[in-house]
Amino acid sequence: MYIYDEDKFSTRINCTEKLTSGNAPPDHTGVQVEVYFSRHRPMGAAPSVIAAHVQDELVEMGLIDDTAVNSGRVGRHMAYGPWANVIFDHGTKPALDCIWTWLEAYGLRRESDDLHPLTDWNSKPIGLVGTVAMAGRFGQWKYYWTDDCVLRGKWL
Ligand SMILES: Cc1cc2nc3c(=O)[nH]c(=O)nc-3n(C[C@H](O)[C@H](O)[C@H](O)COP(=O)(O)OP(=O)(O)OC[C@H]3O[C@@H](n4cnc5c(N)ncnc54)[C@H](O)[C@@H]3O)c2cc1C
Repeated sequence: MYIYDEDKFSTRINCTEKLTSGNAPPDHTGVQVEVYFSRHRPMGAAPSVIAAHVQDELVEMGLIDDTAVNSGRVGRHMAYGPWANVIFDHGTKPALDCIWTWLEAYGLRRESDDLHPLTDWNSKPIGLVGTVAMAGRFGQWKYYWTDDCVLRGKWL
């Protein structure tokens, strides 16, 4: 689920054991919450402090029971990733065009969709790859999901 309330840290929430069995011990649930920051939205507090706020938000939203929290039955873990999603803005296309053009001199072969955030795998023709090839969310600066990254590997 996605949380759009601006007064909350929580943005995207998964119940891990619903994705595949074995992701939580029997009779337990795993609640994974993503919290995003950028230079446009600085953190403003230590990740551990934010994690405690997020737990309170989960209680407030009814996703965990405060009696479970108070009786010590809720465990909390946190991971901080310094780089996450590519943010697209009006400068993205011209910047990518500049980089891809520069890389052509080193063997990159341009692709018809290399300035677009998405790839239509059903219609993308198998192309010739140069001696330099970009792959993945950060390599290509695309809005790629995991399956796109796998398909990109197959395409190459
Ligand atoms: C917060 C978040 C939530 C997401 N949720 C989902 C989701 O629910 N479903 C989904 O399908 N996708 C999701 N994605 C997208 C998915 O995670 C990415 O699209 C995918 O992992 C990108 O794969 P990649 O191989 O391009 O990059 P990565 O998975 O980031 O792999 C790149 C690897 O290169 C390594 N590396 C970097 N620089 C160097 C270097 N100089 N030398 C050696 N190694 C280096 C990195 O350590 C990393 O291991 C999410 C992404 C984020 C950030």
